[in-house]
Amino acid sequence: MFIKEGETVCIVGGGPGGAACAIALLDEARRWGKKIHVTLLEHKKFAEHRHYNQCVGVLSPPFEDILKNEINLKIPENLVLSEIEGYRLHSDLLSLDLIGEESGRSVSVKRSKFDASMLEEAQKAGAVVVHSRVTAIEVNPDGVLVYSEGENIKSAVVVGAFGLDDGTCRVFEQGTPYRQPDFLNTVITRLYLEQEFIQSMESTIHAFLLSHSGLEFGAVTPKGDHISINIAGRNVSSLVMMEFLRSAPVQRFLPPNQRREKPLNYFKGKFPIAPAQNLYGDRYVTIGDAAGLMRPFKGKGINSAINTGVYSARSIIRHGVSKNAFADNYYQHCSELTEDLPYGRAVRILTNMATRFKFMDHMIAVAAERPEFMKALFNSVSGHDPYKKILIETASLRLAIIFAKRLLAHFVLCQPAHLPASGALRVG
Ligand SMILES: Cc1cc2nc3c(=O)[nH]c(=O)nc-3n(C[C@H](O)[C@H](O)[C@H](O)COP(=O)(O)OP(=O)(O)OC[C@H]3O[C@@H](n4cnc5c(N)ncnc54)[C@H](O)[C@@H]3O)c2cc1C
Repeated sequence: MFIKEGETVCIVGGGPGGAACAIALLDEARRWGKKIHVTLLEHKKFAEHRHYNQCVGVLSPPFEDILKNEINLKIPENLVLSEIEGYRLHSDLLSLDLIGEESGRSVSVKRSKFDASMLEEAQKAGAVVVHSRVTAIEVNPDGVLVYSEGENIKSAVVVGAFGLDDGTCRVFEQGTPYRQPDFLNTVITRLYLEQEFIQSMESTIHAFLLSHSGLEFGAVTPKGDHISINIAGRNVSSLVMMEFLRSAPVQRFLPPNQRREKPLNYFKGKFPIAPAQNLYGDRYVTIGDAAGLMRPFKGKGINSAINTGVYSARSIIRHGVSKNAFADNYYQHCSELTEDLPYGRAVRILTNMATRFKFMDHMIAVAAERPEFMKALFNSVSGHDPYKKILIETASLRLAIIFAKRLLAHFVLCQPAHLPASGALRVG
């Protein structure tokens, strides 16, 4: 099942995954001397800045390498709101500046502007962008029919780049054996605080791992004129967000005159935490969040969406659109993400247990005194290294003994975390 001259590839969704896939398809087709059409359906109009995809808008390494090497793009500097310079991790009682090195810069952007710019690049590359919502797909042996609220598209293959949009997941579930990935819910809000306070955050992302029922993690990110606050968990809601904002670690962090302020707007979103079932098949393939192919537990979703978009495009042009071709080429290419899944899951379970049993203060105290554990926390929070590498590099008898002593102190002797002298560690 190969793409024939003049046939169309239809992409459902114009987030970073869909846009990157369109650019890579047209580039790859040119390279192989094939003439194909790419039609991308996206119902949101990012350029009008009324619609956007839920996101904090942090592009982290190696995003610049991915853009340059995979789709020959450079981020326009006018999109960059600020450069992220560090991470501070907060537990119930402690906070710690994480010390480590990343192989490139992290920047914050306005997500709608980033998506608009990617979509514009896809159009420049030759993709036809149709602003319409896909309502059904029919996958037949000789082609795919994609129905939308506007025009319908006949194509040789359909690429699902629709994120975790509930309605579109159903559309794909009805039209194919695809099953939506497992996910965490997120709530995001913004606070417009005094410039002095935002500047005092020194472009630091604050990550919160608190022993708060229903909450897996929270983060506060400076975004130029405001801060973005997001929380994630199975059942987070605006009420959990209010509890998070009222919790002592966050209250200690906010400036005194803003502590009572209620955010006006909440936005709900989702993070995939596992791959979708049957994420590809004859004449269909899913990428990015729709496929659940992202770093387990912690982020870099935009990077994964672009990478998987490019891998799927190469697989389509070089190897065709059959299930076997996707298994042998597309899915194999995603091994960097899929191989790390069990390790990411293990880290997530350990972190959830540490917060649930109020052990996170001890973890932070150990990181302040043991450089190898500091490095592990930095690489986990920044998403710099695969979890497998972090676990292998960090595991040692010495750390096991330190943790055994602290577990004993915490659970048997009920002693609080003893604090090593460290400039990076703060109480509260
Ligand atoms: C609260 C939150 C914060 C995040 N922060 C970050 C961050 O700081 N950095 C980072 O790298 N990642 C972050 N992520 C993850 C990141 O947003 C995603 O991983 C990334 O956007 C996935 O890209 P995608 O192209 O797969 O899907 P999406 O970006 O979700 O794009 C899917 C597109 O498909 C369109 N679509 C859906 N259904 C249809 C349909 N029926 N017809 C037409 N179009 C359709 C949607 O409108 C959308 O534009 C965050 C996620 C959440 C929830």
